[in-house]
Amino acid sequence: MSQTLDPGPDLDMARDELRRLFGFPDFRGKQADVVARVLRGESTLAVMPTGAGKSLTYQLPATMLEGTCVVISPLIALMHDQLRAARANGIRAATLTSADADWRETMDAFRAGELDLLYVAPERASQQGFRDLLGSAKLALFAVDEAHCVSEWGHDFRPDYRQLRPLMDAFAHVPRLALTATADAHTRADILTQLGIPSDGLIVAGFDRPNIRYAIRPRDSLPRQLERLCHDHPGPGIVYAPTRRKVEQLAEALGKATGRPVLPYHAGLPPEVRAANQAAFVSSEDMVMVATIAFGMGIDKPDVRFVAHAATPKSIEAYYQETGRAGRDGDPAVALLLWGAGDFAQARSRVAEVEEARQHGERQRLDALAGLVETAGCRRAVLLRHFGENPPENCGNCDNCIDPPELIDVTKLAQKLLSAAYRTGQSFGFGHLQKVLTGVDDERVRAKAHDKLSVFGIVEGEEAALLQPVARALQARGFLTQTEHGGLQLAGDVRAILSGETNIGITRPPERSRSRSRRSGNTPNPTGDPLFDALRTLRRDLAAEAGVPPYVVFHDAALRAMAADRPVNLSEMSQIPGVGAKKLEAYGEAFLKAIDEH
Ligand code: ADP
Ligand code: ZN
Repeated sequence: MSQTLDPGPDLDMARDELRRLFGFPDFRGKQADVVARVLRGESTLAVMPTGAGKSLTYQLPATMLEGTCVVISPLIALMHDQLRAARANGIRAATLTSADADWRETMDAFRAGELDLLYVAPERASQQGFRDLLGSAKLALFAVDEAHCVSEWGHDFRPDYRQLRPLMDAFAHVPRLALTATADAHTRADILTQLGIPSDGLIVAGFDRPNIRYAIRPRDSLPRQLERLCHDHPGPGIVYAPTRRKVEQLAEALGKATGRPVLPYHAGLPPEVRAANQAAFVSSEDMVMVATIAFGMGIDKPDVRFVAHAATPKSIEAYYQETGRAGRDGDPAVALLLWGAGDFAQARSRVAEVEEARQHGERQRLDALAGLVETAGCRRAVLLRHFGENPPENCGNCDNCIDPPELIDVTKLAQKLLSAAYRTGQSFGFGHLQKVLTGVDDERVRAKAHDKLSVFGIVEGEEAALLQPVARALQARGFLTQTEHGGLQLAGDVRAILSGETNIGITRPPERSRSRSRRSGNTPNPTGDPLFDALRTLRRDLAAEAGVPPYVVFHDAALRAMAADRPVNLSEMSQIPGVGAKKLEAYGEAFLKAIDEH
């Protein structure tokens, strides 16, 4: 099939077009494979992580192939982001959504063959009028974004996506390109079937996001730990908090402590406040958004420099997806997870409440998460192995690779803690057990006669400082769970620990010193370079004038390259990565002038 008389555009032509239109020197990762298939007219499912550059794999062919590429995308906000970015690169694009007033012009342009891209929502697919419209012009490609929505196995099933197959079957000669960032093997197979894509059309890019630095540490003083993060990373950031209340509290505390713009986002805010806060974040270069996980889908901001979790996420999948919102532009970014024993204890006690058939799976999910949080090895390796990859032992860009922790055997201490929980009746919290074990003369201890127990005062000196980390580890691993009143009770195979069959090792916890969190600190958003700052200011002005977020004008990386290379004419300017023909024409002179003046 691919051997026809007219071979059509090939990958070399696509590469030239990539340079001219987007100003990128070459394809990234699997982009070339996907684009080659699309140009050959072959249907494809591309599974690529966030930030891999999925949209380019249909935008670029859309400009080269005859006819329009119809893009199905689930969120209007996302479509409008994409539209803006495509138009900024000189691509002829339009959206047909309930939020658009220019339907007539769009339909006329489509029928006249004047559109490279037409974005629509999936619910259009089932409408006869839309089918008729598609029949009235030449189609180059169907691109289905967030394709996992078609599968009930995926985490975000949308029934409307099931209408896409009949629609596309009505135009059987038009190739299909399905795109998603999150799909396990099961979901992938389902997407292929549901969208009618042959199984040899599956292209899976690695899950690795090499520019994201993973760091995970115990939560010991939440506001201060986050303050430090905000201080080290002046660019835009997201802090995920577990509850609406926590969101409000943290947003206020961080705003006061850091002096940076900080806004809250959660489902309890009125829709117009949510929309306004989101819009402010998207166009900001230094805002911190404190949010519940309600904030995420539909955020297509490339320059997020950090994502912090103020409590453990639901699963490794959720962690990967949430941290994946950092550093889409490929510049250095940080993912910091601050966890507490209670996060796991509560999650584990909730498992007991779900239906029996799901409990095993839920426990595995928490064990995997605990494994990531507690590992002394490379975080990235744990993550990638979880997704079925075979990564190197060390990545060099996570907290444990940069600063390898020391492993210590705490079996004896774990035995003491478990005994204390057992002997006090499994209804006391950590604070009380700590007092008993370290022999504190306390009224409540005496009232319960716990000073008479054999475990009273058996933990001394250095060991005492390790009690909390040990309690944390035992809770993360499910050997201690919480009663509804917060008492610690034994769970799982604790007998193996008490008999010494199972050893308990932990990583030596970081000291609570001020210098500690400095370690994760690289500053990916450098200030202090006057030329770079001047270019940023210019970008801000031009963006405001055009009514778009600054990153639509140029990404930070392009500004940094300009500051480093100091182009003196348009030809040199066109060599800067990210400066395509359209942007060169629109902004080239202005930036040359700014560079010349510095
Ligand atoms: P995804 O949809 O996969 O999350 P996007 O399509 O939003 O990713 O692209 C992420 C970023 O990577 C965008 O800012 C885009 O401009 C940039 N990008 C895409 N392809 C390339 C490339 N070949 N070279 C450099 N940057 C690229
Ligand atoms: Zn690593």
